[in-house]
Amino acid sequence: MQQLSSVESCSSRLGIDLDALRANYRTLAERVAPARCGAVVKANAYGLGATRVSAALYREGCRTFFVAQLSEVAPLASAVGADAAIFILNGLDPASEGACAAAGAIPVLNSLSQVTRWRASARRLGFPLPAALQVDSGMSRLGLAAEDAIALAADPACARELDLRLLMTHLAGADEPGRAANEEQLAAFRRVAAHFPGVPASIANSGGVFLPAPFHADLARPGVALFGVDPGPHAVGLRPVVQLHARVLQIRAVAAGTRVGYGLDHIAPASQRLATIALGYADGWPRSLGGAGPLWHRGIRLPIVGRVSMDSLTVDISALPPGELAEGDFVECLGPSQSLADAARDARTIAYEILTRLGARHARIFVEDGNAEVVLPGGAP
Ligand SMILES: *Cc1c(COP(=O)(O)O)cnc(C)c1O
Repeated sequence: MQQLSSVESCSSRLGIDLDALRANYRTLAERVAPARCGAVVKANAYGLGATRVSAALYREGCRTFFVAQLSEVAPLASAVGADAAIFILNGLDPASEGACAAAGAIPVLNSLSQVTRWRASARRLGFPLPAALQVDSGMSRLGLAAEDAIALAADPACARELDLRLLMTHLAGADEPGRAANEEQLAAFRRVAAHFPGVPASIANSGGVFLPAPFHADLARPGVALFGVDPGPHAVGLRPVVQLHARVLQIRAVAAGTRVGYGLDHIAPASQRLATIALGYADGWPRSLGGAGPLWHRGIRLPIVGRVSMDSLTVDISALPPGELAEGDFVECLGPSQSLADAARDARTIAYEILTRLGARHARIFVEDGNAEVVLPGGAP
């Protein structure tokens, strides 16, 4: 726990509501029951901090975690109990077999060469190694072709060498419930899964949780919905998890015709009051929001004027009563007035991209059970 004085002097605050995160996990778990619900915490838990996020999910009962890379296993392993399983979605990087086995992580084998290398490790060690197998059911991103997976199911040596913990696939359009491709992927996956009796099956990401029950299979793998982002039109009951506030660095009044920011793109159409805010693209605020999206103060819209710089941007605060906002105050970037989805729409991207870029340079304030823990920029993950 850092001194409160240090958070008082930070230039931006990313609030992370772990109670909301846990409530979202409960909502998703109830929705897929009797299937189990895991959690995808890749990319440092979508940028927020893998150790604290995973520990909170573990306290809520989650026992299955997914990361993308081997490097993401260690922060997690220290945060969850030994009864939790950690899967690596991208599978085995070349020559990483020893490190993967030592980390106690379970690779998702996505290609025949990954299968071959993991089986060879098992033969060397003399005991079966835990593994997940991914089948490509139509997205053409990662996973074995159906016939290759079926051939493995028929290979008794494979059954001796691999302790298959999960058979999985991934949907290309789970956020679009009406698409026929979802049903086609489900059928293609089930045809393969029939050859792996007794191996738990997993299909659904966040969007898949809000598809019909057959998509829930034995284990769901939501990520973004845990953080309160609606993964499609049918999502209900998710609570926002993040809030972002950034400091006013300077306030000025400008006359009509004054030019503002890099490239002098903005030309004040009339006299304006402007505030320069400690938030830029190095803080994860998209540069495409220059001249596009607003920030907010007590429900009042403050349009961004001119380009977003690396460490700052400028907003028009003329709509606020004079004196309402002073140097050193905070304005709302994400919160009750602006969701991740709002910012993503204005930036012409998706909420995932904004979320995953936020974590690096803000003071993160984790709130749980009425306690706040402050992690300053550069602090532990
Ligand atoms: C990222 C990922 C997920 C989680 O996706 P969300 O849309 O964030 O729920 C699930 N499965 C796989 C294979 C993934 O890569």
